[in-house]
Amino acid sequence: MDTEWMARGLCTNVPPSRFFPSDGAGVELARKVCADCPVREACLEHALEQRIDHGVWGGCSERERRRILKHRRSDVAQAAAAARDAALR
Ligand code: SF4
Repeated sequence: MDTEWMARGLCTNVPPSRFFPSDGAGVELARKVCADCPVREACLEHALEQRIDHGVWGGCSERERRRILKHRRSDVAQAAAAARDAALR
């Protein structure tokens, strides 16, 4: 697992507690830091791949990451169904 990107995250200079907020206002504060982060995509993919349940990663809350994963599973299922249908024709 490549984690070299972590050292370049803007959050390295911010207290970690900022990224584990207890309410929506806290999520927004974390998001503001992530918005300009040069490793935002790598951070989000890491959290998605590792199924990290807590905190703001890549500018996304726990709920947003769950939604992304759900959409991805749905996309994979649809692609598999389309491939199966094509094979049966
Ligand atoms: S996207 Fe946010 S949580 Fe991820 S490394 Fe950057 S600042 Fe940190």
